[in-house]
Amino acid sequence: MTPEDILTQPLLERIRGRAAGYDRDNAFFDEDLAELKAAGYLKMFVPAADGGGGLGLAEAAQLQRRLATAAPATALAVNMHLVWTGVAHVLGARGDTSLDFILRETAQGEVFAFGNSEAGNDSVLFDSRTEAVPVPGGGYSFTGRKIFTSLSPAWTRLGIFGKDATAGDGAGELVHGFIARETPGYTILPDWDTLGMRASQSNTTVLDGAVVPAERIFKKLPVGPNADPLIFAIFACFETLLAAVYTGIGERALTLGVEAVKRRTSFKNGGRSYAQDPDIRWKVAEAAMAMDALYPQLSRVAADVDDLVDHGSQWFPRLVGLKVRATETARAVVDLAIRVSGGSSYFRGSELERLYRDVLAGMFHPSDDESAHNTVANAWLGPLETP
Ligand SMILES: Cc1cc2nc3c(=O)[nH]c(=O)nc-3n(C[C@H](O)[C@H](O)[C@H](O)COP(=O)(O)OP(=O)(O)OC[C@H]3O[C@@H](n4cnc5c(N)ncnc54)[C@H](O)[C@@H]3O)c2cc1C
Repeated sequence: MTPEDILTQPLLERIRGRAAGYDRDNAFFDEDLAELKAAGYLKMFVPAADGGGGLGLAEAAQLQRRLATAAPATALAVNMHLVWTGVAHVLGARGDTSLDFILRETAQGEVFAFGNSEAGNDSVLFDSRTEAVPVPGGGYSFTGRKIFTSLSPAWTRLGIFGKDATAGDGAGELVHGFIARETPGYTILPDWDTLGMRASQSNTTVLDGAVVPAERIFKKLPVGPNADPLIFAIFACFETLLAAVYTGIGERALTLGVEAVKRRTSFKNGGRSYAQDPDIRWKVAEAAMAMDALYPQLSRVAADVDDLVDHGSQWFPRLVGLKVRATETARAVVDLAIRVSGGSSYFRGSELERLYRDVLAGMFHPSDDESAHNTVANAWLGPLETP
């Protein structure tokens, strides 16, 4: 199956046609999800022999970029499922088959989501405010509050993690597992009403003693930063696929900006289009050059993950650098597109108005600006010395 078979142009156009309505109604993208599922989009990382697309991260990133040009919120939410399946794929390619069950269950139609973010946890994956309490038989009971759980109306498997404070001689241990939709002990709050990315329906998930049995606990790690293959795989897939979504937003904004510039005419310049105005041309060129730098970076980083390139301690800086470059470039390009498109883009319902709101979400995803700069500075300068 080729990427073009999975996301055909007619499917992309149908998805584009629904995006404004989901945004207006603050509605989940049910129809998009049903169509993407039927097209095999959710199975892109599943090996071809098991009925999947058999794709790698580079091809997945291109598909996500394309999908985001039509419906950023749909792409962002689907990203969470793709991150889990991508993690299983990336680990498998490195000889670790411990998460192969994710691919097998995806082949059977399960939808995976990412319940990791927590209020007030800026350590992200390296600590947790959720309590993981051992239960007889080797499982854990999880109690805590996960925020921004995209795909809330539709996931059938939710990846969560919490801290077993009793483990590691009191140092604590971070325990990762999956709950199923039918697992008792969690509540999804109806609290998603945001500026942008409205169709993602990334509601709060309250865990209140949700038990993950031993066979669904897939990793235990010490508290604090570490470069375990799971952490590498999550970073590699998350940052790359997220960057792909925001690259798609920038790409679409540039297309819309060019269309608007060609359409708008100038009274001052004798009715000629703004495409003949040197100041406007400069802005369009600036946006295009910014995008030009982003495409090869996205392709290279994703291909390096597929090709098992060993960047050693420079891997994390490359991944967070890509995420920051993509989200910030997309913001700048949307801004330029709005400037050249004029006041009509300020009206509710214009596509650029929606992209302007959607693109802002990019700054909140891990790694945020501060954390990313810290990672890159550490890689080049070593850690900060304590006085
Ligand atoms: C559109 C979108 C989709 C996302 N999807 C997912 C997803 O599917 N899965 C996932 O795991 N993450 C997801 N994320 C979450 C994201 O990665 C961040 O974790 C999230 O944006 C929170 O960022 P923050 O810590 O800067 O927010 P903050 O504003 O700092 O915190 C968020 C909330 O926590 C409260 N809070 C902050 N500090 C404390 C404290 N010390 N004690 C108690 N409460 C506090 C705030 O009042 C606020 O209500 C998504 C984010 C966005 C924008």
